[in-house]
Amino acid sequence: ATLIILSLSGLLTLLGHAFFNWRTSLHIDIQRGIDRREFVGFYQPIVNSQSGEWLGAELLVRWLQPNNKIISPAEFIPTAEQSGQINKITLQLLERAASEKEKINSISPDCYLSINVTASMIANESYVDSLIEMINTHHSLQTNVTLEFTERETFANIEISALQTGMQKLREVGVRWALDDFGTGYAGLSTLQALSFDILKIDRTFVASSVTDAVTHSIIGNIAQMGHKLQCSLVAEGVETIEQAKRVAQLGIQSSQGFYFDRPMPFEDFFTKLESMLYH
Ligand code: C2E
Ligand code: CA
Ligand code: CA
Ligand code: CA
Repeated sequence: ATLIILSLSGLLTLLGHAFFNWRTSLHIDIQRGIDRREFVGFYQPIVNSQSGEWLGAELLVRWLQPNNKIISPAEFIPTAEQSGQINKITLQLLERAASEKEKINSISPDCYLSINVTASMIANESYVDSLIEMINTHHSLQTNVTLEFTERETFANIEISALQTGMQKLREVGVRWALDDFGTGYAGLSTLQALSFDILKIDRTFVASSVTDAVTHSIIGNIAQMGHKLQCSLVAEGVETIEQAKRVAQLGIQSSQGFYFDRPMPFEDFFTKLESMLYH
């Protein structure tokens, strides 16, 4: 009888653990989110640094849970990247973006969309093929779409030649390439040249201290110069104040993104605002 009781309690403990793991493992919740299509892109305008005119938008993922809670990427992107679930999420975002872009095109066809991917995705041949298939089936994605990936992800485990191939294949269906968080990462100048980005997005840490800190001031100047040398168009990220906006424009950084101009917003708000700017 003791034996039975012991093994019963062992079994209960086991079940308890299993239940606990089931409750707490984020990737299972993410999977349910994917199945229910709860991941949506918020739109943050990218503007002309001189005039403030909207040039495009970056799509930033949000997890809209059934209880109306909005979960930000910091809470699930690391897990989703580790598990590979980000691949599915990105395809869902693109599919949704295709119909939203169609609406944007109907009023402002030059407005571009920039979507976050990872370098590992682009070094993965079959995933690149699924991106190309998505683009080929949605006319609206065939122009003015930029893909950006961060320099923060170490390129050490990625074959640069595979990345180059993936980028090239996507260029052929119209994609432009942006390097995210420029200045913070590991990519050397030779890698940057080999990948030939169209756009460099200057990380917000440089923008933030560009006004107050003489050292950063000259760093951002150097970064801007390097960008011009690489013949890339530049975007300043995280512009929060009018002083930063002015500094960025002075340095010849063509585009800006940040709370000073606009916060990321749901598509409906973005579209309404775009419409009112065009017709007023
Ligand atoms: P990121 O790609 O560098 O995106 C910019 C982040 O800075 C966004 O945070 C944005 O809301 C925030 N931001 C914009 N303007 C300002 C500003 O003026 N000041 C400050 N302090 N922050 C500003 P968010 O939306 O929380 O995204 C965080 C990160 O999550 C992104 O950084 C990106 O690395 C990742 N992420 C977002 N969406 C996706 C996605 O669809 N796929 C992947 N793989 N990663 C994503
Ligand atoms: Ca980004
Ligand atoms: Ca960034
Ligand atoms: Ca960004």
